[in-house]
Amino acid sequence: MLACVKTAIGKMEMLDLPIPKAGPGEIVIKTTMCTVCGSDMHFVDEIPNEVLAALAPGVLTPKGFPMGHEAVGTVHEVGPGVTRVQVGDRVISSCQTGCGSCPPCLRGDFSVCTGGGRTMFGCQAEYFVVPFADVNVAKVPPEVSDEHAILATDIMSTGFGAIDRAGLSFGDSVAIFAQGPVGLCATAGARARGAGLIITVESIPERIEMSKRLGANIVINPKEKDPVSEIINLTALQGVDVTVEAVGTQATFDGATRSVRRGGTVSSVGVYGLAPQLSMFTMTHSFYHRRIVSTLCPSGHDRMTHMLDILRWGKVDLSPLFTHRMKLADTPKAYDLFRSKQEGVLKIAITP
Ligand SMILES: [Zn+2]
Ligand SMILES: [Zn+2]
Repeated sequence: MLACVKTAIGKMEMLDLPIPKAGPGEIVIKTTMCTVCGSDMHFVDEIPNEVLAALAPGVLTPKGFPMGHEAVGTVHEVGPGVTRVQVGDRVISSCQTGCGSCPPCLRGDFSVCTGGGRTMFGCQAEYFVVPFADVNVAKVPPEVSDEHAILATDIMSTGFGAIDRAGLSFGDSVAIFAQGPVGLCATAGARARGAGLIITVESIPERIEMSKRLGANIVINPKEKDPVSEIINLTALQGVDVTVEAVGTQATFDGATRSVRRGGTVSSVGVYGLAPQLSMFTMTHSFYHRRIVSTLCPSGHDRMTHMLDILRWGKVDLSPLFTHRMKLADTPKAYDLFRSKQEGVLKIAITP
């Protein structure tokens, strides 16, 4: 089968790999659509294959590391012990899989599983394996498109998760730093959850437009104005109830920690890659009385089902996020396009 494999740092190749077999508790999914994600750029450009192999044991092949963690497809093979899905079911899997029985999983924190769950890899291929399938897989209702189903596996759950974990209430004001795919999902999530004023921070013209379309009232371009003083001024010098960091840089983290109100919540959801440390301003109006939360894509069957229900019933349309279409054989080109942030690219629908 055709699979997108990272053969060296920054190097993606389409290779012919054997179709995987389903072991105990596992299923094999035949991919109908997959995509690339901001996290993939860190995995490919910064993180050596040996480190990835520790993150996802059993995935590394002699030819390299099979990439991809966001996909939808139909069940091709069911391993021993799997009871909740059958061959032919249309399904998605969380991008972070849980084992279902370790202490974090028993608390419902599947994405920080310590019992053998792992980051999904290998979805940019014609077939891929899901471990602990009963815990991590959800059936996709026919009313939900492949594009929408893919978003539920990661960036929608992550962006909505940033809003969930901030505890945003009806009418709360929120400022979201960066409107890439995850930040845009946070904007749509804040709107769906009943936010009042939504301010976003973004400089790329297509992303500014998309931000307004998905729910932002005011978009601040950081190349034109200082976002922190703008946000403070827009909120009668108080700061917003909630800030979201949605890209993973020191500058946006600074913006989020400096523009939240006293007693407000900073919600960090960006991926900082191999950056070992963040620093924090203490001379701000809110440093001594605020909450900081961080979120790694909330996952598991129940979470996937909830995301799919929002897409099916909740009148949330995230389909405009898909700006490009490509064939699986061209996945390395999808990486180049996504990394470049050119042509208004947000999500790329990749089909076999
Ligand atoms: Zn992702
Ligand atoms: Zn677990």
